[in-house]
Amino acid sequence: MIYLDNAATSFPKPSMVAKAMAGTLNKIGGNPGRAGHSLSLCGGRVIQRCRELLAQAFGAPAPEQVIFTSGCTEALNLAIRGMLCQGDEVIVSHAEHNAVMRPLHLLERNGQIRVRVLEPNSLGVITRESVCAAITPRTALCILCHASNVTGVVQPVKELSPVLRASGIPLLVDAAQTAGVLPVSLQELGADMIAMPGHKGLLGPHGTGVLVLGRGMLPRPIVTGGTGSQSESLDQPVQLPDRYESGTPNLPGIAGLLTGARFALAHRDEIQAYEDGLAQRLRAGLNRMRGVRVLGHPGTPKVGVVSFIPAAMDPGELADALADAGYALRAGLHCAPAVHRWLGTLHTGACRASMGIYNTEDDVDGLLDAMEKILSRR
Ligand code: PMP
Repeated sequence: MIYLDNAATSFPKPSMVAKAMAGTLNKIGGNPGRAGHSLSLCGGRVIQRCRELLAQAFGAPAPEQVIFTSGCTEALNLAIRGMLCQGDEVIVSHAEHNAVMRPLHLLERNGQIRVRVLEPNSLGVITRESVCAAITPRTALCILCHASNVTGVVQPVKELSPVLRASGIPLLVDAAQTAGVLPVSLQELGADMIAMPGHKGLLGPHGTGVLVLGRGMLPRPIVTGGTGSQSESLDQPVQLPDRYESGTPNLPGIAGLLTGARFALAHRDEIQAYEDGLAQRLRAGLNRMRGVRVLGHPGTPKVGVVSFIPAAMDPGELADALADAGYALRAGLHCAPAVHRWLGTLHTGACRASMGIYNTEDDVDGLLDAMEKILSRR
């Protein structure tokens, strides 16, 4: 099977990732931060090394401001539910994932907050004007998806963030499709918080994610419990990262993330260029096919995510036929219905191919050939 679903999770991972994970399970299987014996201390050191690596890469003021979560969804939930208060307004882009929209909708339905969705320009890009127009005295948070997991279009976060900063509005960036691929840091983007999965561009395993907190960002915790610290108190510790990391940490996952992220971050520019080249090859091939619509305006910067809709076939049926031909893609709405509504594709969804470091030009050409064959049978 040729795997082209890296926007869902990257696969395969570098072989050192599984080795690092197995190493923790086989050799240092104590519970990190819970005891003074070496099996607990060693695990704690692995977690600390990963925190330090990510703090440096993403510009956290201190390693403790890197919070480990189970994925990008939990990181976004922590930031959203921990920051917002009764009566607040939130600004979001049209390209947000349900990991953002569902927690917001729940708060809005309960009468706690109001959500304002930004209108992009005709290229699908959010402008400073649209952000300025959405700001009110009640705006308490802005959330921007750095790159759409449907179109791959990258939003100019760096150009938008000064407008928010000038109004004192914190910016939360969903870097699910960009961490480990594009330059992403609090400083680079002008962001206050960045949520990211560990299991996509950072090449870590499933069940890993991170919330990077900028200076002064102190959301309320959404999970409380044992931290191995200040156990005499029933109050959740205020110090980071314990404030947000209750319960046994995902040591094998974080060990895998440390190994995957080290690799991804050391080769980030090459990875970006490589995946972009593959995606461009695919887009060019799809554009040559009659009756295939490729989503995302050609004049916009993108990551290696390519969604398309054949005129003659349901995208779900096409993905099934491609799976039979040996190509793993994902069809549907990709948990991002708003961007499909904006594109007019809510009723059909799309077929998505997303590039990873182990894909090759042969994979792309083979996919195009398989598609030609399938569509010609129609
Ligand atoms: N945001 C975006 C833009 C995504 O693509 C995804 C993953 N599909 C998420 C959030 C959620 O990430 P996770 O699966 O790590 O919770």
